[in-house]
Amino acid sequence: MPMFRKCLAICLAGVLLCPPMGRAEDPPAPARPKLLVLLVVDQMRGDYFELYGKNWTGGLARLYKGGARYTNAAYPYFNTVTCAGHATIGTGTFPATHGMVLNGWWDRKSNRVVSCTDDPHSSLIGYGNGKPTGNGNSPGKLLAPTFASELRSQRGAGSRIVALSLKARSAMMLAGRMADAVTWFETDNGLWLTSTAYTQERHSFEDSFFRANPVTADFRRTWIRRLEKKSYQFSDRGYGEKPPQMWDVSFPHPLRPAPEVRTPDKDFYTAWASSPFSDAYLARLAEAAVEHMGLGKGNGTDFLAVSFSALDLVGHNFGPRSHEVQDVLASLDATLGGMFAYLDRTVGAQNYVVALTSDHGVADIPEQLKKNGVDAGRVVTNDITYEIEKVLTKSWGQGKYVARHLYTDLYFNPGVYERLMADAATWKAVRQAILATPGVDRVFVREEILSGPESGDPILLSVKRSYHPERSGDIILTPKPRWFFVNASRSGTPGAAATHGTGHPYDTRVPVILYGAGIRPGVYARAASPADIAPTYAAIAGIKMPKADGRVLVEALEGSRPASWRDD
Ligand SMILES: [Zn+2]
Repeated sequence: MPMFRKCLAICLAGVLLCPPMGRAEDPPAPARPKLLVLLVVDQMRGDYFELYGKNWTGGLARLYKGGARYTNAAYPYFNTVTCAGHATIGTGTFPATHGMVLNGWWDRKSNRVVSCTDDPHSSLIGYGNGKPTGNGNSPGKLLAPTFASELRSQRGAGSRIVALSLKARSAMMLAGRMADAVTWFETDNGLWLTSTAYTQERHSFEDSFFRANPVTADFRRTWIRRLEKKSYQFSDRGYGEKPPQMWDVSFPHPLRPAPEVRTPDKDFYTAWASSPFSDAYLARLAEAAVEHMGLGKGNGTDFLAVSFSALDLVGHNFGPRSHEVQDVLASLDATLGGMFAYLDRTVGAQNYVVALTSDHGVADIPEQLKKNGVDAGRVVTNDITYEIEKVLTKSWGQGKYVARHLYTDLYFNPGVYERLMADAATWKAVRQAILATPGVDRVFVREEILSGPESGDPILLSVKRSYHPERSGDIILTPKPRWFFVNASRSGTPGAAATHGTGHPYDTRVPVILYGAGIRPGVYARAASPADIAPTYAAIAGIKMPKADGRVLVEALEGSRPASWRDD
């Protein structure tokens, strides 16, 4: 057999021992990028590129056309909320591993709801003149290391780490425990903050940036449509929209409180955060970080994470089919276009990589669907608690049995769950009462969720991946498609106009796009999830993640083994 045929036969048999064919024509291994940029667009549904992308010409368009785009990317777990999503993106693991099961959960030891970033051992540091009023925040509850903290511990201080967002949980879950600058915004008083978990004093470049660029410069500006009016889909007066205090449901949206309010107040900061101005501001802050810290120009690989929050706030207020959502995305496209042009000029297009994803999607406004005869709605958690207490009081006598019901997670007072599992008749009655509530689909108990590593039942499997025995509820309730839980009493239409947090496709499907140095552009139909970004960035940076539920998106990388990429 001629050498070529023999080698081909062996190679086809899957043996990789023969000399590689055609290696001479392979491009040389790419140089390791100097800057890894991670962009999270909070609440960006996977279908928004197709739904709203026609008018984009900036950064989102550049990623869509020139990136490695995963068309079937989705979260494989149930509780699609901000803290869980950002922790998954940051660590490459699912909530069952990283422990961020919700934005806040019932703490059985202290008998109260704790937020995922609460930390009494740290305190807030504010920029500007105001004093921070909130509790201490840190990523201390995160049970898995982030890519960024592994980068720092394996590559040393030569790798700089910056994470920025309007939300504390978003910035901290992307950064993890070790970072140079982690900054977020407090809408109550308009302060930019960091934590003693990261630094004992203000960063000088941020201090000067916030002084030179006060958010209050946008006081009395007006959010107007970016595109021609005829480019907008759907209605500007969508049924069931719930705009912030100072706005009407339709454009324009002035950032102008009542005439007697002469200085920026909480209403102004809330509206500002829910406008494209906040995304543009965050991008300018990111550029200032690149400039002042020299990101992408040092000896190591630097990491810049930015989570844009405006879309989430706008989506909650106006729903996914609104002029406002279309507009905030068109503005973000322009903002990112400017940011990439800045990186091209300062870092060089051949020196940086961008990953773009989202922490979750969003459901349509249920009232809009109901009007069209679609089964949709809100499940008020207090109603379920009321029914459970009624059944238990009837069986066991007067008492208070439920500690708290947060979204999918229902927590009983100490001893109640164990007693319930030992009393089959009462548990059956409780279960029936829960399932009789309109919109509730399934009920799972702790043992069922924790037993066995896998399940053929896709809903149970996704619940398992969101479940942590110390932090999750005793029982987990899942809503039917197009229904969601609201933790509110029954007055008016409770909760935000639209929300997320389930394992249904409109909540789980999000973009996953890689772009830039060493990335092979194309459309990839293979299964992927945002948990794949951290392992992929680890491969690009030449480090190892000790834990990962995600995989390296190796097919999108030029050169099959990024570990062999050149360190220039
Ligand atoms: Zn949200």
